[in-house]
Amino acid sequence: MYYDPVEAMDRVALEQLQAERLRETIEIARRSPFYAERLKGLNPDEIRTPADVVKLPFTTKDDLRNQYPHGLLARPLDDFVRLHASSGTTGTPVAIFYTQKDLDTWADLMARSMYCCGCRRSDVLQNTSGYGLFTGGLGIHYGSERLGMLTIPAGAGNTKRQIKMILDHQVTVLHIIPSFALYFAQKVREAGYDPEDMPWRIALIGAEPHTEQARAKIEELMHIKAYNSYGLSEMNGPGVAFECVHQKGMHLWEDAYIAEIINPETGEHVAEGEVGELVMTTLKREGMPIIRYRTRDLTRFIPGKCECGRTHRRIDRITGRADDMMILKGVNIYPMQIEQCLMAMPEVGQNYLIELIREGVSDQMRVKVEIKDEYFVEDMRALQGLQKRIAKNLCSEILVTPRVELCQSESIPKAEGKAVRVVDLRGKE
Ligand code: ADP
Ligand code: ZN
Repeated sequence: MYYDPVEAMDRVALEQLQAERLRETIEIARRSPFYAERLKGLNPDEIRTPADVVKLPFTTKDDLRNQYPHGLLARPLDDFVRLHASSGTTGTPVAIFYTQKDLDTWADLMARSMYCCGCRRSDVLQNTSGYGLFTGGLGIHYGSERLGMLTIPAGAGNTKRQIKMILDHQVTVLHIIPSFALYFAQKVREAGYDPEDMPWRIALIGAEPHTEQARAKIEELMHIKAYNSYGLSEMNGPGVAFECVHQKGMHLWEDAYIAEIINPETGEHVAEGEVGELVMTTLKREGMPIIRYRTRDLTRFIPGKCECGRTHRRIDRITGRADDMMILKGVNIYPMQIEQCLMAMPEVGQNYLIELIREGVSDQMRVKVEIKDEYFVEDMRALQGLQKRIAKNLCSEILVTPRVELCQSESIPKAEGKAVRVVDLRGKE
């Protein structure tokens, strides 16, 4: 029923295991120049339970940048066999180094994650991620092989070739980022195929924020079950938290990580079930352990037990990064609030873009929305009505009325990798 019995381990034993591994991690981390300094004076005897992690200092993305490239390595460079870098969505990239053992641990976590949402060794997986420094390429790849699936390293782009391989090799599992999935669904139809006739049954979607509404749209358009996959390079890559078949939040693998949710302003833990910033500590990394990493990702622990019997706590879908927040007319707005609203409307197509603009002295938001072809009619009045409705729906969600621009499908440029949802044009128009 589980890939690894640890997934259903009794909580008391699991927490004991975490405490042991945390002590080990501290010991190893101290061999790196960065943590030797950071953890100076810490008495390991003070760490008796996983909750004692709060006695340790945070590590931030800036720390990783400042220590670039080798400051966090706890072993000689010769012991490392792989390097990845975060995709640099929010600035200078950071480099993560892996020993062979770290890669094995990661592949196991990844295999476990895929098994958890129903992938089996008889499946055929096509990975549509780029195979570069981005962990979604090799990370998914080795996990898929570890599980025993036939694995096709298709790489990004070239939808025609993707479709051909899916059909030729009867692909049952797709790894695809949500923004590309929406686009791909359309391409499959345009190529003359009915998604119902495609061999696939599972889509592993993640790597970028997306809403429940976007998932529903992907499932409907592709005729597939889509499972949310969360990870970040600093914590290996994908395989940190994954949805099980119940699709009610992602199990975060607590034998490999200690997760905390804090108020980003105060650094204190939020109350159980409340949204805050996810903070993570690696428990099974020997080469480059990271302690209390501030992910900037906002989520919450989902209270209660999951029907699948796994005991590892679930996190809710990531509502965005703390850095994604826009402030307009004094109101805090996240791009995902806008997506949620748009994707719930049947007329809305696959893509959208939020532009921050300046009109006179005030800041405004312009939302460009692709409309499905069948609604993109010549009747001006119908279009204006739709435009108003979108603006009104958005206003009830974000409390300010944005300018809405209706666009034809595929007219908004699509990013190669992760979607770019917000462009700041203030002072540039
Ligand atoms: P970068 O930070 O440059 O994008 P990564 O490739 O390491 O580099 O991406 C990790 C980030 O991607 C996470 O911190 C998170 O913001 C986002 N992410 C990953 N998986 C998901 C997911 N399932 N839902 C929402 N956001 C995700
Ligand atoms: Zn579950």
